[in-house]
Amino acid sequence: MALVHLERLQHNVRLLKAKLAAGVQMMATVKADGYGHGALEVSKAALSAGADRLGVATVEEAVALRQSGITAPVLVYGALPEQAAIAVLDYDIAVTVTGINDIRILADAAKRQRHSVRVHVKLDTGMGRLGIRSADEMLTVLSHISAYPLIELEGIFTHLSSADEMHHADGRVYSEMQRRRFIEWVHVAKRAGYHVPIAHIANSAALLWGPEYHFDMVRPGIAMYGFHPAPAWNQDVDLQPVLELRTSITRIARMQAGEAVSYGRTYVTEKEEVIATVPVGYGDGIPRALTNRGYVEVNGAIAPIVGTICMDQLMINVTGFDAKVGDQVVIYSQLIESKASIQSHADLLDTIPYELLCRITSRVPRQHIL
Ligand SMILES: *Cc1c(COP(=O)(O)O)cnc(C)c1O
Repeated sequence: MALVHLERLQHNVRLLKAKLAAGVQMMATVKADGYGHGALEVSKAALSAGADRLGVATVEEAVALRQSGITAPVLVYGALPEQAAIAVLDYDIAVTVTGINDIRILADAAKRQRHSVRVHVKLDTGMGRLGIRSADEMLTVLSHISAYPLIELEGIFTHLSSADEMHHADGRVYSEMQRRRFIEWVHVAKRAGYHVPIAHIANSAALLWGPEYHFDMVRPGIAMYGFHPAPAWNQDVDLQPVLELRTSITRIARMQAGEAVSYGRTYVTEKEEVIATVPVGYGDGIPRALTNRGYVEVNGAIAPIVGTICMDQLMINVTGFDAKVGDQVVIYSQLIESKASIQSHADLLDTIPYELLCRITSRVPRQHIL
């Protein structure tokens, strides 16, 4: 069971919002089912705590929010698939445009549906992923937009590749280069007579780095969910992890020395040991790579994962714990410094908390607590 503490999410939203100057908007990033927390519940909680808009990756994610009754402005960050244009209009979803082909697709759909559409022009200032790559190309796209009264330019934005590396000189210099290029291109647009209501660049790391990255709007994701996007430099912010993965022990086995645990016998007891079985596995999103490496919390103490992690179960060593069947096991602890935290496991696996959160599968029930 994943407990999703929405009051902590709201605390994080307020804390981030407090860093913004008056008039700077916050777009809560709720893609990938709200980083595994449940997009609908997260959206409602974030909006009620002061977020102004929502950001998702795909049109399907945006439509799902609309169908659940969300009326706040929603922007799709990703590229626009041609077949999604009608849904974008019908559900009043703002989209990212990266070239004149997008304008043609939207113009056709807008004429057919007799409905206007709001667009944000994406610039590639150095991420190398998506967007327009020169000021000239941007001007061409802007002139196409202005040729269609049903297409409304709402924003211009870009995405930073290295905002979480601001503690290194090269990460700082690179982010600064992207920021300067962004400012320059937005100026080019404005000098050419285009009205740019919302310029935006900041993910969580850039939001926390400083106001020079805030522009008209920020788009935090991971920080809202309680993780420090750049653990190397922004630990002083009181972000609270929102998700906690809990289960309970289903079996206790007192094993003799030399007994094997799980597939492939990758763990063999060295002495008399107490091995507990826990009903979660890689089918729930616990990386199998944590086999004989990860940790959980049992009754407030740290127990190592022993033996190969199975699809539906894993085993832990609770020798000396006085643990019994039914005792609670915390798989992903809320305590940041715990060896059982998502951050610790992400560090162990050379990945980031984002990935471990997104991996929690749909069969894990989410219980939202407010
Ligand atoms: C995912 C994403 C964000 C949020 O990033 P965090 O690092 O989680 O704050 C912001 N903007 C875009 C375009 C994104 O894709």
